[in-house]
Amino acid sequence: MHTRRGDDPRTLQSEPALRAIMRRLREIMAEPGDGQSRLDKIVRQISGLMVAEVCSIYLKRQDGSLELFATEGLNKEAVHSLRMMRGEGLVGRCAEMAVPVNEPDAKLHPAFSYRPETGEEIYHSLLAVPILRGGTVLGVLVIQNRTRREYTDEDVEVLLTTAMVVAEHLVSGAVAGAGAAAEISRALTGVVRGEPISDGIALGHVVLHEPRVVVTKLLAEDAAAELDRLEAAMQRLRASLDEMLSADSLAQAGDHRDVLEAYRMFAHDRGWVRRMEAAVREGLTADAAVERVHNATRTRMLRQNDPYWRERLRDLDDLSARLLRILAGRTTAAREGLVLPIDTILVARTMGPAELLDYDRSRLRGLVIEEGSGQSHVAIVAKALGLAAVGQAKAIVERVSTGDPAIVDAETGDIHLRPSAEVVAAYSDKVRFRARRQRRYRALRDLPTVTKDGARIALQINAGLLVDIPHLAESGAEGIGLFRTELQFMISSTFPRRDRQTETYRQILDGAGAKPVVFRSLDIGGDKVLPYIRHPKEENPALGWRAIRMSLDRPGLFRTQVQALLRAAAGRELSIMIPMVSVVPEIEAAKALIGREVEQLQKRGVPRPSKLRIGAMIEVPSLLYELDSLMPHVDFVSVGSNDLMQFLFAADRANGRVAHRYDPLSVCALRALKLVVQAGLKHGVPVTLCGEMAGRTIEAMALIGLGFRTISMSPASIGPAKSMILSLDAGRLAAVLEELLRTKSGSLRPHLQEFARAEGVELS
Ligand code: PEP
Ligand code: MG
Repeated sequence: MHTRRGDDPRTLQSEPALRAIMRRLREIMAEPGDGQSRLDKIVRQISGLMVAEVCSIYLKRQDGSLELFATEGLNKEAVHSLRMMRGEGLVGRCAEMAVPVNEPDAKLHPAFSYRPETGEEIYHSLLAVPILRGGTVLGVLVIQNRTRREYTDEDVEVLLTTAMVVAEHLVSGAVAGAGAAAEISRALTGVVRGEPISDGIALGHVVLHEPRVVVTKLLAEDAAAELDRLEAAMQRLRASLDEMLSADSLAQAGDHRDVLEAYRMFAHDRGWVRRMEAAVREGLTADAAVERVHNATRTRMLRQNDPYWRERLRDLDDLSARLLRILAGRTTAAREGLVLPIDTILVARTMGPAELLDYDRSRLRGLVIEEGSGQSHVAIVAKALGLAAVGQAKAIVERVSTGDPAIVDAETGDIHLRPSAEVVAAYSDKVRFRARRQRRYRALRDLPTVTKDGARIALQINAGLLVDIPHLAESGAEGIGLFRTELQFMISSTFPRRDRQTETYRQILDGAGAKPVVFRSLDIGGDKVLPYIRHPKEENPALGWRAIRMSLDRPGLFRTQVQALLRAAAGRELSIMIPMVSVVPEIEAAKALIGREVEQLQKRGVPRPSKLRIGAMIEVPSLLYELDSLMPHVDFVSVGSNDLMQFLFAADRANGRVAHRYDPLSVCALRALKLVVQAGLKHGVPVTLCGEMAGRTIEAMALIGLGFRTISMSPASIGPAKSMILSLDAGRLAAVLEELLRTKSGSLRPHLQEFARAEGVELS
């Protein structure tokens, strides 16, 4: 945008115009009157203050048409009778494309639609701007003049700013009346499709993880002070981007780094800064200037069809939001200590597991993220917290505001925004139905988990936090098959000292009582980063310095954890499981380190566990071909199918685009799993599986068909898994599966589904 303020005769008018419009809007809202009379006053004031003969407001109706709701200058009889069809005329075009239309001679424009009832034939110039809320067009604000007037960029921005304020009042029902507000809320209603990442249904209210700041103070008293605020905020923004880029943990991710680099370029763009400074000099607060320049730039960028610009638009949205948060002195909703509604549905572009754990869990119901997949760690934490969660919800952040009612259906992946009463009623039924099903599962809780043909199956839960412990009793699970110790580290801001770790592990063992607990040693790296541990930059963090690799290189961390575990389990059985073992010497080395700690305790006379079991996770394919060498070294093994599948298929578990591309029920994956079962039988080593796969009934059924007799899953999956097991003939399935594995290729899912249908196996 090139505005030469000095050369523009209208510049002097636009400055007081915005100020005066804002003041008049405030006064109008404070005066008594109904919605229609307020709207009439608003158009009168804008027309006067913008020196336009006409000012009109059109609002979008349910069928997409635009109805004239108020006008100053056009025939009053046309109000509520004139309707422009979807896309009709320049006003329709403005609404369809969500961009301003600025025409010095509107009648010459091919899209112009002449409506005699308005009496608009005498007007030439037209400026129309969309009335937008959260990316949805609610209507159009128009000014017209008799002269062939070229509206300036400032005029466009003044009108855009005015439309922004009008939109807020429209939504609240303060102008245009409750009927229109109801219709607007219907317009804002919508369904966004994503992919379920943690089962459940949540009815609640949106909280944006990175809250959008609503600018309430638009006009500044002291322009110099506002320029200083803007400058200081820009400096902080740049510094925070530099910091993020140099932070090893974040910079390692290739895509993430590209995005940050693009942000940095933007943040140093003089044009952007100059436009904001100009807006401040016109009398806006720094906050309002950021918002206005953002709206104007966004509008220009939206005109571009080029995907490159669409992406830059996201950068701009994000940067402007960051800048506004800095100006308002805010961070993320969790760190702001915001009081969450009791039915919070968190909405974020992206979120790490530690960020999710920052929130008050008792108030969370649902989670929606624009990225992420079911095997990502944030999804695992969402499951642990019992949240209904959906990932891959494209552009949802743009469409919602904090406080909006929403429903997350993590059965289908649908997110209903501002749902109608009918949708809420339908979902309330669905929730009741699910509750009935849960009651049915609870009734099964104390029954032994045995298949129809008498095979005993042990169902265990995956856990990682103290809040998970009550799930053991609630679900009727037989133990904790995987305790992800790193989650405790992720919710801590500093490295937990040995005594604190000991106390936590003791509480877990106490909580579990007689039920066994398998503690997995620290599995950091990949998408699990600890802010207080320096991590080198890596191109492929999932294949990088993580889990046992890190523990062996930094034995100090590992030893402290082992000491804490040994002390916590004094007099009781202790199971330690080592993650990401790729070769046998790694488990030998880990065992040697553990052995040394046991000796130390003995020397010091500190009470030790009554029994110590050490196991390996099988989650790296290399180990599949060394099972005979591995088994003699371990007391048990547990398949980590999340990582095993990611490495087997070379498909990043956290990348929604590829995570579901390959089926864990494919012949190749099932054969790999069978190798583990066979090696376990051969060596008399107990074999379990603790990836997300065990939590889906059809997958769990296949695992039993392969010979697994212990599987570990999220607590919510125990009931459905048990119901499946009670209706299954494991012997028949094993025979069918063996035949399928011998004769088929590709995914066996359809065959297994057919087996379950024919045999009456209960899958959910
Ligand atoms: C796995 O990889 O399957 C597993 C259970 O561990 P995590 O999901 O924590 O990597
Ligand atoms: Mg793993």
